[in-house]
Amino acid sequence: MSQKLVLASNNAKKAFEMQTLLAPLGLEIIPQAQLGVNEAEEPHFTFIENALAKARHAAIVTGLPAIADDSGLCVAALGGAPGIHSARFAGEFKSDEQNNQFLLERLSDTPKSKRDAWYYCCLVLVHHANDPCPMIADGQWHGFILDAPRGEGGFGYDPLFWLPELGKSAAELDPAHKNALSHRGIAMRRLLERLQEQPLSKESEQP
Ligand code: IMP
Repeated sequence: MSQKLVLASNNAKKAFEMQTLLAPLGLEIIPQAQLGVNEAEEPHFTFIENALAKARHAAIVTGLPAIADDSGLCVAALGGAPGIHSARFAGEFKSDEQNNQFLLERLSDTPKSKRDAWYYCCLVLVHHANDPCPMIADGQWHGFILDAPRGEGGFGYDPLFWLPELGKSAAELDPAHKNALSHRGIAMRRLLERLQEQPLSKESEQP
């Protein structure tokens, strides 16, 4: 029988990716909305704390082990901004295009050589609501911010995220290529390795 794991996200694409990755380990991913879990607050200043808050909330409500991710873009010249505010950099309910435009405005005086940036993704798995030892896996992907968007693929800041070694923006990569290189792909493969070393069933019994 497979072990159920609640995913603290309502993003269908993420749920599919996680399910594909974790099914071979006998894990079944259930998106939190299917279990009536509302979205958790994300009041913290770091990705890891916010991912932990989301996973813990889903575990408290469902009584199941839970997994959450938090990710975003960090720009060196902006002291790591937009960071945890990546989804709403230009304001609440703004589109990807508006966030990208706002980023370009913030960097208008920053020369090309100082536009280095990285995507970051943190995945947290709590074995139960009071887990003192959550499993944590993260990944980074380094690039530079362009001065105009390029490419139609990806999402978020991908049209501005330049990969000099490929001569392409992240929005010009096909999904498999992006997944092989990206912060999220790296974090997911690291989590998989951790789960292979430390299978879930041994840890997830609530004391
Ligand atoms: P979330 O963790 O999926 O909610 O992502 C937060 C925000 O970070 C997104 O809304 C995007 O603005 C940005 N972001 C995270 N990962 C990516 C990526 O792979 N490409 C582009 N933008 C990303």
